[in-house]
Amino acid sequence: MADILRFADKLGPAKIIQVYEPTIDLKAVLVIDNIAMGPAVGGIRMAVDVSIDECIRLARSMTLKNAAAGLSHGGGKTVVYADPKMPKPKKERLIRALACALRNFPEYVMGPDMGTDEQCMAWIKDEINRNVTGLPAESGGIPIDQIGATAWGIRHAIEVAMPYCNCPVGFSLAKARVAIQGFGAVGMNAARFLAEQNAILVGAADSQGSIYDADGLDVNKLIRLKEAGKSVVDYPDAEKSDRDAIVGFDCDIWIPAARPDVINENNMERLKAKLVVEGANIPLTVGAENYLHEKGILVVPDFIANSGGVICAAMEYRGKIESEAMEVIEKKVRTNTRLVLEESRIKKITPREAAMHLAVTRVQKAMSYKRWSIY
Ligand code: NAD
Repeated sequence: MADILRFADKLGPAKIIQVYEPTIDLKAVLVIDNIAMGPAVGGIRMAVDVSIDECIRLARSMTLKNAAAGLSHGGGKTVVYADPKMPKPKKERLIRALACALRNFPEYVMGPDMGTDEQCMAWIKDEINRNVTGLPAESGGIPIDQIGATAWGIRHAIEVAMPYCNCPVGFSLAKARVAIQGFGAVGMNAARFLAEQNAILVGAADSQGSIYDADGLDVNKLIRLKEAGKSVVDYPDAEKSDRDAIVGFDCDIWIPAARPDVINENNMERLKAKLVVEGANIPLTVGAENYLHEKGILVVPDFIANSGGVICAAMEYRGKIESEAMEVIEKKVRTNTRLVLEESRIKKITPREAAMHLAVTRVQKAMSYKRWSIY
């Protein structure tokens, strides 16, 4: 018990639920971090290397993200210890069983995350007839990853952040050199939106490796390759290296869109970018973020930059359509990025400290209106 409570602080986590069904090899953990602002929203992550620590940190990240975005939702997260590429019937069985196990927690609204998708959410809705987010369009959902809701926010966070970083006057998205770690739903769509602004994608990485071309990679060609089930390393005519090589690529903007803690005390000195915009959740360790801040490299924190997905989910929950969601994402992410970077500049604190202050103040205020914030 003492062990599980080591993360407990003034905000949460309110509940930690273990799910274990040995007959179908289902192992999962749900963390409901805080629900003072409303039902907890946070996706279901499926990967072989997830952990309870990761789940607790991601659930907190959702509390902060929802509060910072001004949504009437708290934060939660589920991790499923399994390979998301398992055969579909097995995955369906796991997801349906998970839904049943969590049906008595109406304060948690399920949604997709790495390793789960719209199809999984449709299974959940069918199994427990609960309002979930991230449903297929045919079931009334907004396909977050297909439309690139998160990446749309990242594209706007970048544009707002550019004048705040150590770049020459007049530095703009057109001709900015970008490297993206993780070429999945977030990374690919970010590349697409940035290419529309004439930014140059010089580097990309997925779990198989990294590729680099100082003259720019062909974004459409790379996306087609990934959509055909291949890796970025199958892209012809680019320098190829191992997946961690992308950390040291020469570029202006570096976008982590893969796993947690990818920039850490062991590799932070290799980063050459002027601006890091966190597409992934908790992609930098606290030490690495502070180090980059001291070096004058601007980092826009995850729960400000990548809130497009959850804003879209909240809009779907309220019955809004895709165009309305994209409009709200643009407005909220731009406003919050500016607010946080201004606060950081004026108070001489890190952007994360400024963002934390904004979000924590909102959550604590909501908590003060309630007798207990565990219901
Ligand atoms: P995804 O599964 O579609 O893509 C992940 C990509 O990362 C894949 O291309 C994979 O090969 C690559 N990858 C995995 N490990 C890697 C490594 N060590 N080095 C380089 N590449 C690696 O996932 P996604 O939905 O694009 O999410 C990516 C990140 O963004 C996650 O941290 C997720 O929590 C976060 N995020 C996603 C959304 C969303 O709307 N999908 C919203 C907010 C945050």
